Amino acid sequence: MTETTTATDEGEGRPRITVLGAGPAGIAAAYALTKGDVAVEVLERAPVAGGNSTSFKIDDIWCDYGSHRFHPVADPSVIADVKRLLGDDLLLQPRHGRIRLGGRWIHFPLKLQDALLKLPPAFAASLIGDMVLKKFRKKSTGPRSFSSVLYDGLGPTISENFYFPYVRKLWGLDPDKLAVTLAERRVSGSSIGKILGKMLKMVPGLRGETTGRFYYPRQGFGQISRAMVAAAEKQGAAFRFGADIVRIERSKDRVTGVVTRNGDTEEFHQADQVFSTIPLTAAVRLMDPAPPPEVVMAADAIRFRGMILVYLILETDQFTEYDAHYFPELSIPISRMSEPKNYNSATEPKGRTILCAELPCDPGEKWWGMSDEELGRHYCDWLGQLGLPVKVPVIRTETRRIAHAYPVYDLDYQRHFETVDNWLSSLGGFLSFGRQGLFAHDNTHHAFAMAYAASESLTPEGGIDRARWAEHRHEFESHRVED
Ligand SMILES: Cc1cc2nc3c(=O)[nH]c(=O)nc-3n(C[C@H](O)[C@H](O)[C@H](O)COP(=O)(O)OP(=O)(O)OC[C@H]3O[C@@H](n4cnc5c(N)ncnc54)[C@H](O)[C@@H]3O)c2cc1C
Repeated sequence: MTETTTATDEGEGRPRITVLGAGPAGIAAAYALTKGDVAVEVLERAPVAGGNSTSFKIDDIWCDYGSHRFHPVADPSVIADVKRLLGDDLLLQPRHGRIRLGGRWIHFPLKLQDALLKLPPAFAASLIGDMVLKKFRKKSTGPRSFSSVLYDGLGPTISENFYFPYVRKLWGLDPDKLAVTLAERRVSGSSIGKILGKMLKMVPGLRGETTGRFYYPRQGFGQISRAMVAAAEKQGAAFRFGADIVRIERSKDRVTGVVTRNGDTEEFHQADQVFSTIPLTAAVRLMDPAPPPEVVMAADAIRFRGMILVYLILETDQFTEYDAHYFPELSIPISRMSEPKNYNSATEPKGRTILCAELPCDPGEKWWGMSDEELGRHYCDWLGQLGLPVKVPVIRTETRRIAHAYPVYDLDYQRHFETVDNWLSSLGGFLSFGRQGLFAHDNTHHAFAMAYAASESLTPEGGIDRARWAEHRHEFESHRVED
């Protein structure tokens, strides 16, 4: 049985927008749209908002899906909204992490004095050699890839000891099988000189108010999403959680609405515009009628990298003073470890802390099916190998699995993405954006900025100003990922 009951009925005469997904992009779209005279309904499969940026409590400690920080480089309008929504609950915290380089712990973000004192002398000499000899270094020949761009820009020492093993671990592919886009989006220091410049900005007296700092809410990163949902609801947005989208219906080249299922009942959500922030591959699969075969094949060829978050619950107040540890070496399968209590400087609960490990891994890989206990045992072994032995009682291990952690920019991704993107963009009544919707390796503040841009591109009649949207798409290309 299919019923037609939606926000549409309440939206008499107003543009009716159905938003797919209540991650940061979907929430921010609802928030921005409902500032105007628009009827908005958000459909989310999960029981809560926030997507990969949500938070949840384990043993009374707020935890995120891996290390999440709100970066001060965000667009000022985005920062202003987040500050207003969270008030005193938004903390400005100093970044205090460590990275393993050449077998030693170096402060991260890099600090000049720390790097000079702690880097092994041979490693430091090699880095300086790379910088001095850059002009004379033979440039890579053949097709450009992540590895050739990094090698030419940064030289062999930092490429081979940090970036290459780190990306191999994160994406499960060798750096020469990864596209240049990854270097453009992810590597903020494209030469040793630029990295040194960033380190100089960290020197006390030279640094700005937010240099080397990050925003973080008292009640976990997900508090940002929760606050924005509350504000959007107050403005009239309707959020439907546990809404399983089973079809996106279209008539020829126009999307007409979305069907969700709850038990035996299907519900048709009619819309003037569907704003989709779910993975673009899922949007293609849900289209009814199905897209042309070449679009379906292109969507099938697009890959997302998954991740297991392993939470080790320990009987102690604090394990280390650091917020995050970064592990580039390939001998350890986890890429990063964070201690959630250190993100919001929580001192409660006493006698408990949690270590969250990020284990990049796809469904079907050996780690994916492992029990929590087994993963916990491996985790303790890895920490022992890294010189961080767990000497306090382990209470238990919990895990969470996310299938769409990172877009995989392999050497062929661009043409597959363009096939899917061009087809989705040709549809009337449909706009895809957000990290999953545009296959963009972006931060939360970028997802917010995309949502604001989508809202701004809506015409008073409920159409999309495509020229304006094209300008925004061009702006999105300048987004750079912050770690
Ligand atoms: C390990 C890790 C660390 C990160 N650290 C940071 C950080 O420090 N700072 C930062 O700014 N960003 C960070 N990010 C990125 C951040 O998580 C994302 O940029 C942000 O969550 C993207 O928001 P989004 O709404 O575009 O997508 P998502 O958060 O993925 O939300 C998409 C939503 O769509 C829903 N959905 C999917 N399919 C369906 C369906 N068929 N039906 C209904 N709903 C559906 C999902 O349930 C989800 O709620 C990190 C990401 C990862 C993986």
